[in-house]
Amino acid sequence: MNAVHRIDHVREFIAQVRAQKKTVGLVPTMGALHAGHVSLIQAARQKCGYVVVSIFVNPTQFGPNEDFDRYPRPLENDLELCGKYGADLIFNPMPAQMYPSEQLTWITVEKLTAALCGASRPSHFQGVATVCTKLFNIIQPDYAFFGQKDAQQAAIIKKMIADLNMPLQIEVCPTVREDDGLAISSRNQYLTAEQRDEAPIIYTALRQAAQLIQQGETNPQTITVKMRKVLDRALLIEPEYIEFVDTDTIQPLDVLKGRVLVAIAAKLGSTRLIDNIIVDAKE
Ligand code: AMP
Repeated sequence: MNAVHRIDHVREFIAQVRAQKKTVGLVPTMGALHAGHVSLIQAARQKCGYVVVSIFVNPTQFGPNEDFDRYPRPLENDLELCGKYGADLIFNPMPAQMYPSEQLTWITVEKLTAALCGASRPSHFQGVATVCTKLFNIIQPDYAFFGQKDAQQAAIIKKMIADLNMPLQIEVCPTVREDDGLAISSRNQYLTAEQRDEAPIIYTALRQAAQLIQQGETNPQTITVKMRKVLDRALLIEPEYIEFVDTDTIQPLDVLKGRVLVAIAAKLGSTRLIDNIIVDAKE
């Protein structure tokens, strides 16, 4: 495994790999790697001849009062995990490498960014779409691997690829969870012991929604009331949103039909967690 910080060095490695006619897979991450990231590396390993993991805490996707400075950066540990699970190249640039001068060009994906996390994090997805475009241009992968855990992000990147004719395919991998159901996240380490104990209730509420939809309930408001009752059992969880949207368009649904994305964002103290579940509603 090789680790590089500079764009020209990435391009040299990729040119060699291309000469060998290998398919290139990219796993974009912000580091603090865990079992969720590992599942993406493993999926890339299975599908591609050469696996690149980018580790970059991207400043442009954080709002002014968010956790950019305190976001964990355990690089040594990350490199060890990447090596263990068979990554070929780690790209770990400094912000000045990715943003050497004032960035005046931004990728905005309309409509899909309006609901869910886009509502409370106004420039977040513009930062995500822009950094992914940069990474795709630098690495030129055949496949890029994203987690269902960030369902809105995955839908936005898929739409961007389609709209801009980018020559790669997006693979979306299932959410990896702790044994008690909590979706694994780099931000879970911010939780106090008491918050961590309550956090799995987010997934309990999502499972309850899935069950109600499978039983034929089509009214999102009825389900929201029941989910709020579940979440109310947790004294330290403050829901930010409970939304029912179309999985591809991320548009809110008044009546549940087709593939429904049920998504929750919740605050536990200053830590914001998101999770979701996809359910096929009865037609
Ligand atoms: P991050 O480092 O948080 O930006 O995440 C990098 C990638 O890992 C994104 O595509 C995430 O959706 C994915 N990811 C994060 N947590 C999980 C998880 N628990 N299961 C599956 N994928 C995940």
